[in-house]
Amino acid sequence: MSTILFNQIVFGPIKSRRLGTSLGINLLPSHGKFCNFDCLYCECGFNKDFNQDKTLPKYQDVIDAISYKLMNHDQLMGKIDTITFSGNGEPTLHPDFHKIIDKTLELRDLFAKEAKVSVLTNGSMINRETVKNALLKIDNPIIKIDSAKEDLIYLLDRPQYKYSLENMIENLKPFKNKYILQTMFLKGNFNGIEIDSTISEDVNLWYEIVYKTNPREIMIYTIDRETPAKDLTKVSIPELEKIASPLIERGFKVSISG
Ligand code: SF4
Repeated sequence: MSTILFNQIVFGPIKSRRLGTSLGINLLPSHGKFCNFDCLYCECGFNKDFNQDKTLPKYQDVIDAISYKLMNHDQLMGKIDTITFSGNGEPTLHPDFHKIIDKTLELRDLFAKEAKVSVLTNGSMINRETVKNALLKIDNPIIKIDSAKEDLIYLLDRPQYKYSLENMIENLKPFKNKYILQTMFLKGNFNGIEIDSTISEDVNLWYEIVYKTNPREIMIYTIDRETPAKDLTKVSIPELEKIASPLIERGFKVSISG
């Protein structure tokens, strides 16, 4: 299984399917994964296989690394479209996440005005005031909801705490018209259980979440690389287009990555 772990605080820029030229920021351990989900498709691998390093980078080291790259971005890498917090797990778990976002916005305004600030998050910490406020300040809070059914979320994303979709929807209220919903569609089999997140009855329930939470944009995608769980398969582009179609008809901006 090919796992991608980022061993630096700042990595890239990489060409992102959805965000363009993206300078990545890893607030997680450099030699391990740290997440409160354990998704079957996680490019960082399963939590149990990469839990040897739990050290989070220090605030000042993060800021020094971001400052250096942004101050010199013209020489080092040219134009960047986005500064993206992602990396080896869930970035909002970093205890200084909000302070790091404030400083990054300051540095972006000084040295890379054209770049957006994006965070890829599983949304588990948006009930925390500091995390919520930080995510509301940035350009692209990209929040994952992979299904409208908790049993499917438990199967696919495997939250390591008591997950509640009802709470998630409640916590997304301040993000109406602001957040980007990110949803993975896939099929396959895990531990003998058939998985198909494209079943129309389930997709219909997922549309209801879209209408309730009103994202500014929706990113639907499918697996792109090898996944830690074997026996997962991609969903075809026409199937993703079919899922997107009623949303586009209702005026939502939807991007599809296959
Ligand atoms: S939420 Fe993201 S980092 Fe965490 S397990 Fe899922 S894909 Fe991996």
